[in-house]
Amino acid sequence: MVGWALLCSAWGFPVHRHINRSATEALPAPLRGWMMAEVEWLAAHATDADKRKHAVEREAPRHYLDRDAPALACLDTLGAAPWFGRAAAACSEDTLWAYGVLPWQLRWSYDRLVAAFDSCDRMAILRAAADLGHYAADAHVPLHTTLNYNGQLTQQDGIHAVWETRLPALYGGGYLLAVPEVGYIEDVDAWGWSVLAKSHAHVEPLLAAERQVSAAWGADQHVREQRGNTMQLQRVPLWCQRYHSALGGMVEQRWRAAIEGVASLWYSAWLDAGAPDLSAVMAPRSRWQETLDRLIGRNPRRVNGPLPVP
Ligand SMILES: [Zn+2]
Repeated sequence: MVGWALLCSAWGFPVHRHINRSATEALPAPLRGWMMAEVEWLAAHATDADKRKHAVEREAPRHYLDRDAPALACLDTLGAAPWFGRAAAACSEDTLWAYGVLPWQLRWSYDRLVAAFDSCDRMAILRAAADLGHYAADAHVPLHTTLNYNGQLTQQDGIHAVWETRLPALYGGGYLLAVPEVGYIEDVDAWGWSVLAKSHAHVEPLLAAERQVSAAWGADQHVREQRGNTMQLQRVPLWCQRYHSALGGMVEQRWRAAIEGVASLWYSAWLDAGAPDLSAVMAPRSRWQETLDRLIGRNPRRVNGPLPVP
């Protein structure tokens, strides 16, 4: 996918951090207590996988699957969740790396986390969990499942950043992102492919909503905004408001589903590792630590707190 590496992220960085943080908070006990001891690390490193794109060969295709690329029609007869080897035999391995390997990356990262839990290796657990959280969050973004990932094939350039960064920054603070207690995922491969299919089903509606709002708008939709040291061309806030309302809660729903998905994967990986006791390597926060957190205004146990300003 030419141009993908130029896009900085899937969800914007603040959303990735929020998803890993909220997923930690949504875990069942006792895993929750151990992972909450490291919630700041898990949130801070939620974007490591994106940062590797510029330095690590083949990192970028791990974040997407262009499911509608004609070159991937070879997947159509392989069932709902084909193994990588079977898909590579049908499509060629180079083709898969050219159009994305996200559903298989979910499985590879999941297996890494199971192994890390099994070995009770604190840093391995944290690194694997942070990365799995990132890839699973990406799988919930519709524009990570299509060749038309930035609207560039339909004269809707820039839609990627609007959907995943601009709208969350403008409206994320008002979203209801609490998730129910998560459960065990029986079949991680089937789960991953079904998440991608649900995301992909949103591609045409989100593009159609953009066409509809832009056609009714008429005038120039853009405004220059200062972002750090640079000036950026952004859609004007009223256009964003109309587009956001035309989407009917889509961003909020995919965001909440991502939190639930990440927590479910982490919990399932821990169970698949035999539910090891991690108290020797990941100490839950003590009561005095929690009191101290409250006194200094930091509350790592809060559920789905406000979105940090991007
Ligand atoms: Zn990504």
